[in-house]
Amino acid sequence: MRKPFIAGNWKMYKTIKEAVELAGSLAGALASEKKKVMIAPPFTALAAVHEVLKDSNILLGAQNMGPVEEGAHTGEISVKMLKDVGVSVVILGHSERRHVYKEHDHLINEKVKLALLNRLEVILCVGETLKEREDGLAENVVENQLINGLDGLQQKQLDSVIIAYEPVWAIGTGKTAMPEDADKMHSYIRKILGKRFSKKTAESMIIQYGGSVKQGNVRELMNMENIDGALVGGASLKAETFVPIVQFDKN
Ligand code: PEP
Repeated sequence: MRKPFIAGNWKMYKTIKEAVELAGSLAGALASEKKKVMIAPPFTALAAVHEVLKDSNILLGAQNMGPVEEGAHTGEISVKMLKDVGVSVVILGHSERRHVYKEHDHLINEKVKLALLNRLEVILCVGETLKEREDGLAENVVENQLINGLDGLQQKQLDSVIIAYEPVWAIGTGKTAMPEDADKMHSYIRKILGKRFSKKTAESMIIQYGGSVKQGNVRELMNMENIDGALVGGASLKAETFVPIVQFDKN
């Protein structure tokens, strides 16, 4: 049985004060929640939000990470720095990193391996653009991102990997994939994971859906056989929109 995992990606929003306020509201509202929940504030707010979350059941996530342990990498944040401020999960390969900051599969794979070596959980994001979908390339694109992103991993390391399928055309646009279409891609992802690792590993892995998830569509998405959670952007920025998503079974 796969335990639902709902994650909030705050992107480049929230000052420290705003982040602490929101984290405090979520910790209170979700105190008795049994699902796995994570929030990923911006780097500058991680230490302060850790103080708020440390006795809660909400995990602290980071939105990105540098590809090497330390060194002359101006502007980067290392895995050790993330661990130092209480981070336990890192989002890697988000489409905004891939498309705006031109991160490629090889770089993302270096980060995935480094994060796992340092015992962080990884949410690896994959997803096609609208053009790629229209050209019939969606499955190819997702398969390459998966195979390359997970290159060199041992089967047992997959216990700490979550896949987020986020069609780029659905992120921050208000457009959501039809639950059936999303489920089809999730099932394809599971098939690829089964071939590359093992059927047992593939069956146990959490595959989140991301792309304009909100209170109004979350339940239908989560009811699909292969959708095990959500990576939520815009709607994770307010307690009144994020809490009902986490509590989708009460909607
Ligand atoms: C995201 O940032 O991963 C995301 C899915 O954003 P939104 O929910 O705003 O589409």
